[in-house]
Amino acid sequence: MSIVNENFLRLEGRYLFQEIAKRVRAHTQSSPQARIIRMGIGDVTCPLVPCVISAMHRAVDDLSHADTFRGYGPERGYLWLREAIAQQDYASRGVVVSPDEIYVSDGAKSDTGNITDLFSPTAVVGIPDPVYPVYVDTNVMSGRTVIGLPSDEANDFVPLPPDDRRLDIAYLCYPNNPTGAVITREALTRWVDYALRTGTIILYDSAYEAFIRDAALPHSIFEIEGARHCAIEFRSFSKTAGFTGVRCAYTVIPHELHVTASNGASVRLASLWERRQGCKFNGASYVSQRAAEAVCTPEGRAAVQAQTDHYLSTARMIRERLQQMGLRPCGGLHSPYIWAHTPEGMDSWTFFDLMLHEAGVVVTPGEGFGACGRGRFRLSAFADADDAREAMDCMERVIKN
Ligand SMILES: *Cc1c(COP(=O)(O)O)cnc(C)c1O
Repeated sequence: MSIVNENFLRLEGRYLFQEIAKRVRAHTQSSPQARIIRMGIGDVTCPLVPCVISAMHRAVDDLSHADTFRGYGPERGYLWLREAIAQQDYASRGVVVSPDEIYVSDGAKSDTGNITDLFSPTAVVGIPDPVYPVYVDTNVMSGRTVIGLPSDEANDFVPLPPDDRRLDIAYLCYPNNPTGAVITREALTRWVDYALRTGTIILYDSAYEAFIRDAALPHSIFEIEGARHCAIEFRSFSKTAGFTGVRCAYTVIPHELHVTASNGASVRLASLWERRQGCKFNGASYVSQRAAEAVCTPEGRAAVQAQTDHYLSTARMIRERLQQMGLRPCGGLHSPYIWAHTPEGMDSWTFFDLMLHEAGVVVTPGEGFGACGRGRFRLSAFADADDAREAMDCMERVIKN
């Protein structure tokens, strides 16, 4: 008998970004002079906005005095932060989410991965393809079978709910990583109606909602009627406010969300999450939560929106340049990501190597996000604007030859 979790042996190769880092390292070792522009990884580059920095300084001062010192905080996050989130991110858009339905954490990556603890190893999981690799890998680690839901130009990168099979769980992420696509209210309503009809739980990742600039697009699945009975939502301050290093995110589990156990009992999913987090998690840091609270003020709001506006202007430029190169881009309008075709259907790792060696540009190979990413690649607008323009010039030069 094996003592390791053999599900890990079923994982595909190494994590996408580790493979990219390995190839870039090999290139810089063999050509140390080569200039490299990283248009691949999904990490922000702008510094934290001033009111967040001030809040963090104040929080550090709190920790330096006995009367304001904080140790372990409440497991689900400080009430002042959960109230600020409920007000700024939901009530201000007419969505009712109560502070006690919000669970603050250190990241949406961990939350979207850890949520799999709540479900049966035999649950049938539907995951769009291409996709953020975390959803697939964490389900494989728990021994689940994953059903890919293809998304491409034919369905505007929004898979329809399958009519030939039942899903226990379905992941949706909009604005999408990696395609940059958005979901309309109509398409999201179809998913919610399907979930209510079939008992599917939708895991909705809206880590990029702050990039939406079209008032008609939903920011939250809870804008859709009935979603409180079938959905969990994940949000993060990472891409919204440049918190990839600070670490603060949250998950919303509505009171109404119940599933039926095998003995027929109705189980509140929030109770399981509370039990799980109480056992395996001790909260996000006080300083991070004070920083997040500052984002949820009108001043913080405006400052971080100026930052996402800046990334979006770079994204539009990239999209236009790829269009001119004939690479049929999508995304980049309500998302920092642009998804495009490789020239003449070139294999995406071959294109990655060509861009790395000939153009000095790091792209993300589409195949790393799933089979539907073959012959595609992703660019990220988190790069410096001048670097991004230079990268487009370098790519164009190589592609035209
Ligand atoms: C970046 C990202 C997140 C945020 O992860 P954190 O752990 O909060 O930094 C969540 N989902 C997707 C799809 C992402 O790309």
